[in-house]
Amino acid sequence: MSTVKVPLLDVNIQNHPLASELRTAFDRVLDHGRFILGDEVTDFEKAAAAELGVKHAVGVSSGTDALLLALMALDIGPGDEVICPSFSFFATAGAIARTGATPVFADVSPVTFNLDPEATANLITTKTKAIIPVHLYGQAAPMDELMTIAHDHKLKVIEDAAQSFGAAYRSTALGAIGDFGCFSFFPSKNLGGFGDSGLLTTNDDALATKAVYLRNHGMNPKYYHAMIGGNFRIDALQAAMLSVKLPHHRQYSYGRAENAAYYLKNLADVAQPASPEGDEDAKLILPTALTHNTHIWNQFTLRLPAPNDAETLPRDALKSWLNGNDIGAEIYYPVPFNQQECFAHLPKAECPVSDQLAREVLSIPVYPEMTTEQLDHVIEAIKDFVAQS
Ligand SMILES: *Cc1c(COP(=O)(O)O)cnc(C)c1O
Repeated sequence: MSTVKVPLLDVNIQNHPLASELRTAFDRVLDHGRFILGDEVTDFEKAAAAELGVKHAVGVSSGTDALLLALMALDIGPGDEVICPSFSFFATAGAIARTGATPVFADVSPVTFNLDPEATANLITTKTKAIIPVHLYGQAAPMDELMTIAHDHKLKVIEDAAQSFGAAYRSTALGAIGDFGCFSFFPSKNLGGFGDSGLLTTNDDALATKAVYLRNHGMNPKYYHAMIGGNFRIDALQAAMLSVKLPHHRQYSYGRAENAAYYLKNLADVAQPASPEGDEDAKLILPTALTHNTHIWNQFTLRLPAPNDAETLPRDALKSWLNGNDIGAEIYYPVPFNQQECFAHLPKAECPVSDQLAREVLSIPVYPEMTTEQLDHVIEAIKDFVAQS
């Protein structure tokens, strides 16, 4: 047995080299004692907006709250419908439902895991107000097609870029294309913070102003409320520490992309790329980065084909095998929105690709600080698994 261990993610190996800068930032806030909003937040927002090439960035309490705030700023609520992919992290659909609007689940591409424009267009009704494309695993959704659909039907677009800080679509940063972009700094994201926080971006001056008020209970001026918001503020401490990591985000994403390229090259002889026509004969399918996308590889996600009625899933077997070899692996995500219990009251959504992906996906370690020895250990373990299966 090899002694190499490969966790799914190691936040310490990234944060500890910055310890003295992080402590300085922490001490600065501790010393001045202004913990709510203030210069640390403004400075981080300006730097993040500049990095993304977007006019406004509003620091918020989480990626989930960025989504909720965007929907609130667009006055989306009861009676409205919002279309999102059925295959994503729960927050995308949860935020829609929390406004009182109805989430409508569209199917995704089996190649990119992202929202299918045709499926999206087919779900538009007179009640549809917005689309939330998710840039899943660090790769852009098909924004040209989706923006055209939105334009034709006068719909708003909120980009769920929680997994895609620094990724681009045809050279434009994600979060700078739709009416709003929503980011998360949850520790496992490419720009990982020290707890919960997030960012809302927009190029629209009026929407930015509205979002800033809504972030703070809709208050303007102090103790006067023309609208109802919430407490969606980012902590000054979080902003101060994120400002230390922000200048490194490209390097982090570059490291992930290098690891992804290494996997793609070295697993090519036991796997195949996804095909839109179906992959019944494949044992192992590698993820695909489209050439017009700058993929930042928040996840490197394999597919292990399993028929509809499979009793055991090859994906589960690979997960156990990897875990047994001291390799972290996780299923993002085992249940699509169209099968979630809390949405059982909604009209049934037909999302066969989402259903299939939920049975087939497995994400393996791709964090930037992985060593070649660790990458090789993962590759060997996967090759051994394929050889046995
Ligand atoms: C992480 C994530 C969110 C939520 O972000 P939090 O900061 O954890 O609230 C939303 N959408 C997607 C796709 C995510 O991956």
